[in-house]
Amino acid sequence: MATQRTFSIIKPDGTKRNLTGAVNAVIEAAGLRIVAQKRILMTRAQAETFYAVHAARPFFGELCEFMTSGPVVVQVLEAENAIAKYREVMGATNPANAADGTIRKLFALSVGENTVHGSDAPETAAIEIAQFFAGNEIVG
Ligand code: ATP
Ligand code: MG
Repeated sequence: MATQRTFSIIKPDGTKRNLTGAVNAVIEAAGLRIVAQKRILMTRAQAETFYAVHAARPFFGELCEFMTSGPVVVQVLEAENAIAKYREVMGATNPANAADGTIRKLFALSVGENTVHGSDAPETAAIEIAQFFAGNEIVG
């Protein structure tokens, strides 16, 4: 399989607890390269666009509130099979179900405050990367 890119977010619960470096260490130890990264405060509009697929879910308002409650670190990760690899490194959405050694098992507080986001497919990865990064901000 060719080199692939995925989009990652270190969520506000992670930045609040000063875990950016700790999360990045797990990412890098798994063989994913951080080829773009910036710390931003997401606007409500950005959060609603980003999670539009969940707009009808009961937790949508809470999710957008959380994602704009503090800084996030948006990233592009590169590796062979990066999308599936990062989903594995992140662990299950609910940390109670996450495997040992995964980012969510190590750091997540709850199903909502679960420390990281990772794209779930090549199509969504491309859309999510383009929402936050210009091509010349990604250096592999
Ligand atoms: P992400 O898209 O953030 O990588 P995911 O793909 O593992 O996470 P999704 O089903 O896409 O999970 O849900 C998106 C996000 O919405 C979750 O990461 C979590 O922050 C929040 N979420 C999901 N389910 C719930 C819930 N039952 N209650 C509160 N928040 C939830
Ligand atoms: Mg998802």
